[in-house]
Amino acid sequence: MYLIRFFLCVVCVSISVLSIAQDQKEQPTLASRDKIETLLFKQAAIMFDLIDHTLKEYPPEIGQPIVRKHALYNLDALFHETRYDQSPELHQFMAKRIAVALADLSHPLEDGMKIYKLYNHGFVVRTPTVTVAFDLYTGKGLIADSLMQAIVDKCDILFVTHFHKDHADKQVAEMFIKATKPIWAPTNLWEDNAQVQHIRCDKLTEREIKIKNSLLKVTILPGNQGQVMNNIYEITTPEGFNVIHTGDQHSEKDMEWLSKIGRQIPAPDVLIVNCWTKNLSVFLNDFNPKLVITGHENELGHSIDHREPYWLSFQKLEQINKPYVLMTWGEYYKIP
Ligand SMILES: [Zn+2]
Ligand SMILES: [Zn+2]
Repeated sequence: MYLIRFFLCVVCVSISVLSIAQDQKEQPTLASRDKIETLLFKQAAIMFDLIDHTLKEYPPEIGQPIVRKHALYNLDALFHETRYDQSPELHQFMAKRIAVALADLSHPLEDGMKIYKLYNHGFVVRTPTVTVAFDLYTGKGLIADSLMQAIVDKCDILFVTHFHKDHADKQVAEMFIKATKPIWAPTNLWEDNAQVQHIRCDKLTEREIKIKNSLLKVTILPGNQGQVMNNIYEITTPEGFNVIHTGDQHSEKDMEWLSKIGRQIPAPDVLIVNCWTKNLSVFLNDFNPKLVITGHENELGHSIDHREPYWLSFQKLEQINKPYVLMTWGEYYKIP
């Protein structure tokens, strides 16, 4: 009897020891958890660096070579891991990307038009005579103040589509105001600021803006993002290039009038469109752009279910019968 009890005790102790060992194996210690974090951040740094090199070697072009696609899909994977959101690795990547845009903005442009994609839905459109900014956004410190200031220094005017904070950045607006450069915005944004040119009309409205010694023509369409007023801007540069920036246009009820206007106005050279808009078919079929550039992918202020990945934009663009260019932060494309 004693022998049996002793045997059972030995078995129980052995099982406990084994299961503790098993638990220890499954749950990393504090030290090993630190090691995992260090490894993952090191891996992210290496990936960001490789992606940056790849994008420099394979700049944007119409359609997408597999190498660029691979780089952008890898960015999706990194941008959908929230542990990197505030990391120095991500900030360094952004700084490198903005430096690419800035380096090019510092060279004179002799001909054609260049479109620069910055963060979120922020774009710069540049010809030899004018440099026009749309919805520039620092991403709450993701783009350093000094870098954003350097971008603003290169721009002549800022168009803001609507009041959402990932488009209407007060800090950016202050930089434009300080440099006495014009800002155009809808009537419900920065209402009390007399230095902002407010515009919102029920129908298509045309204006001319003097910039340096040239005239920039702008057409404002009364778009909406749900219930939020969202100005869609169409600009015609002094050289005759026309570009549409849709802001966050996203409205079922705007389909009909958008379709009508799209068929009336000249086909834009470039359509800059938010990648998740409900109105994509109208913009493609009725506005009939010569080139499509998507924006607003991977807005890191959103939860990951609303950080639209580049792969999803690719899937949408691959189904359209129009030339398209897909870019990430700091990249630019030249139209001859
Ligand atoms: Zn919005
Ligand atoms: Zn937005």
